[in-house]
Amino acid sequence: LTTKIVYSMLLGLAVGLFVNFSFGVDGIVQEGNNVIADFFVYGVFEAIGKMFVSALKMLVVPLVVFSLICGVIGIGDVRVLGRVGSKSVIFYLLTTAIAIATAILLASLLNIGAGFEQGSVAMKEVAAKSAPSLVDVLINIVPTNPIQAMANGSMLPIIFYTVLVGIALLMLGDKGKPLQDGAMLMNDLMMNLVKIVMSFAPYGVFFLIAKTFAGNGPAMFIPLLGYVAALLGSLAFHCFITLMVLLKLFTGLSPLTFLKKIRSAQTFAFSTASSNATIPVTLDAVTNRVGVHPSVGSFTVPFGATINMDGTAIMQGVATVFIANVYGVDLGLSGYLTVILMSVLASIGTAGVPGVGMIMLTMVLTQVGLPVEAVGMLLGVDRLMDMCRTAVNITGDAVVSAIVAKGEDKIDMAIFDDPEAGVIRN
Ligand code: ASP
Repeated sequence: LTTKIVYSMLLGLAVGLFVNFSFGVDGIVQEGNNVIADFFVYGVFEAIGKMFVSALKMLVVPLVVFSLICGVIGIGDVRVLGRVGSKSVIFYLLTTAIAIATAILLASLLNIGAGFEQGSVAMKEVAAKSAPSLVDVLINIVPTNPIQAMANGSMLPIIFYTVLVGIALLMLGDKGKPLQDGAMLMNDLMMNLVKIVMSFAPYGVFFLIAKTFAGNGPAMFIPLLGYVAALLGSLAFHCFITLMVLLKLFTGLSPLTFLKKIRSAQTFAFSTASSNATIPVTLDAVTNRVGVHPSVGSFTVPFGATINMDGTAIMQGVATVFIANVYGVDLGLSGYLTVILMSVLASIGTAGVPGVGMIMLTMVLTQVGLPVEAVGMLLGVDRLMDMCRTAVNITGDAVVSAIVAKGEDKIDMAIFDDPEAGVIRN
């Protein structure tokens, strides 16, 4: 199935670029300019792509709830649960901080944005968002109404509530056995739903990619080449060097095999630009293919989708350096340390949905006194950059899941070593 998905991605790319070259003006196909382009891009491609993403999203909340209840039952010990929780937080924040520091360093070395012509890209209007305070983020972890949290898909309160339910279920002892069995059955049922939705992935991915590249062609990237190159370079460095060194160091697992095993999740993250919508696929890859025990993965994966955004943090770093250079501002060490701190904090409270990185960027820029309107320069290329950074975001989630699982001796090497393990057939 993964091979099929990769082919349909390439096909989507080719079809999208063909439509873009045929109907694009300055690399953009805008809605309402051409009837045929409208029909394909904003009719067929967008509609089917959206339906597919909706199908993924509909799995997320029930899947997280039931797999997490099973996870808590599987761990069975509140102390271990606490250890898994605190280790994940530490590794997630640490990897994000390393990611953004690398990005700032690389972007500064390349001196991107110096001599950039501001008139060379179309500016789009953006409004600054203020950052939620850390206290608010912490308070909001406890839901006033769990049903509402689930209806809104707010991941942290859902995780908090579900872990408590799991613990309460454990406290019931033998009396709770029927409910435990029920939760496990529901979890199996949800996994089957994941398989059903995944079997449509080649089509969904094709339309998502075709829509993106039909709408935004390569011409838009030319003026921003410096930004794009530094960003992609930093993302690649973090994904293939930093994270893989950490993986090898803390787990001893082979990075190449690991990357192969999570390729389906990376592809989904790339196509949907949403870590949240990718949770079902990441969970499937991490538990059924890498071999992380579900009791750990069911916690670390949805948790990571919300609080861990290495790729997004990298974008903040590269974008800040770029904008500072364009406006000729020297942020100095303290400015950059503020950027690192703000990006790490902002990533905790924000959900992994498309485009949220740009909202975070407005918060970061406000903090260091750079003009927020500058974000408008980057919006044109942001969808593609979002896709790339989301793939890195979920790679970070998967790596930390493996590291935390290894620390608890919860990786099944028989699964990791079996290339056929957990492969979904279409
Ligand atoms: N789309 C990213 C994610 O879902 C967040 C972002 O960088 O905009 O992880």
